[in-house]
Amino acid sequence: MQLGFTPAEERFRSEAAGWLEAQLSGPFRDLRGESTFSAHLERRLEWERALGAARYGCIGWPAAYGGRDATLAEQVIFAEEYARAGAPWRIGHMGVELAGPTILAFGTDAQKARFLPPIARGEEFWCQGYSEPNAGSDLANVRTRAVLSGQGAQRRWVIDGQKIWTSLAQFADWCFMLVRTEEGSRGHKGLSYLLVPMRQPGVTVRPIRQMTGEAEFNETYFTGAVTDADHVVGAPGDGWRIAMGTLAFERGVSTLGQQMGFRNELDAIIAAARANGMVGDPLIRQRLAHAHIGLKLMRYSALRMLSSAQAGRLSNEAYTYKIFWASWRKKLGELAVDVLGPAAEVAAPTYEWELLPRLFLGSRADTIYGGTNQIQRNIIAERALGLPKEPRGS
Ligand SMILES: Cc1cc2nc3c(=O)[nH]c(=O)nc-3n(C[C@H](O)[C@H](O)[C@H](O)COP(=O)(O)OP(=O)(O)OC[C@H]3O[C@@H](n4cnc5c(N)ncnc54)[C@H](O)[C@@H]3O)c2cc1C
Repeated sequence: MQLGFTPAEERFRSEAAGWLEAQLSGPFRDLRGESTFSAHLERRLEWERALGAARYGCIGWPAAYGGRDATLAEQVIFAEEYARAGAPWRIGHMGVELAGPTILAFGTDAQKARFLPPIARGEEFWCQGYSEPNAGSDLANVRTRAVLSGQGAQRRWVIDGQKIWTSLAQFADWCFMLVRTEEGSRGHKGLSYLLVPMRQPGVTVRPIRQMTGEAEFNETYFTGAVTDADHVVGAPGDGWRIAMGTLAFERGVSTLGQQMGFRNELDAIIAAARANGMVGDPLIRQRLAHAHIGLKLMRYSALRMLSSAQAGRLSNEAYTYKIFWASWRKKLGELAVDVLGPAAEVAAPTYEWELLPRLFLGSRADTIYGGTNQIQRNIIAERALGLPKEPRGS
């Protein structure tokens, strides 16, 4: 196991850190520390384009599609420096971390050429259409239907149904969707993975306001929405396999670099505790120390996973990563409000929250999206420990 980075990787770190610092103390200084999902939208879109122009948008992708062919270690380093610099949360997240890697892994050459460069340039944005009112953890219960209609060049998928909790759908140009394409099929059979344009009359997006005050996610209705017949990733009917590939990206190595952001949050809690004297409370001190230890554990687990991933495989320990960080961060949010006391309950008149109360409110979702903690435990039991599979419908 490699417990650090090589000199070449450290050189990459200082180059990336230098670029980020120049941008965030120069033309994008107004975006430094921006941790909301969507405030200052126009500036955030400019930021995405600036990342793209410097080829820092999707560094792990092949240079042919706008990336830098960066290694996994370099991707983690960039994510660390990104958070250390206080760069804004990325509106391009869904395309960069989920749609793009899925298309790279499973898409045709034509799909790669059509979809990857605009994501890398920060020009096209994506959302994820998996969940439905009756299909969350039980994703195989998807009911949204798509049928092929028309002839020749006019052949299209026609899509009807409802998705829910669709993050960033209000800004998205495209949606990668899991839909049922075989009449009468059930469970994970008969599903397909479609790429669907969002800006068309058949798509309606209704924001859902969350307790953070933001409407990060939405209800999304598809009523006779269309997409080209060849905008299916994998074969029709092979959607479950592709969708699981995307979820592996969502739960896996793409999250390894986020600890620097967690470090910033823990440091903000420590600063608040120093400022209001809570740092003298023995129980708070213990919880701060515990949070620090959890962060270190994540760091070394990440390095261990990185070592095994670079050796060509992800170790079984990787399955524990999502549940660990999500549970840790939820506790961190609780610690933040306990340190702040009643001040944690005060929002700006416009219902805008400071970083730490927003951490508390937002981190409640960490143990839900990308698979709930209960689902992660099932995954650990079945895939890592080889225990008998949970009974499931066909
Ligand atoms: C902030 C946020 C953003 C999201 N963004 C998106 C998005 O962009 N696109 C998208 O498609 N979805 C998105 N989701 C939805 C997310 O994927 C689902 O909420 C999640 O999969 C859980 O599904 P559910 O909400 O239907 O809960 P349910 O599946 O109904 O679960 C309810 C409870 O039952 C438990 N449970 C369910 N099945 C089992 C089981 N087999 N064993 C043990 N316990 C079980 C769950 O753990 C949970 O506690 C987002 C969710 C959140 C919170």
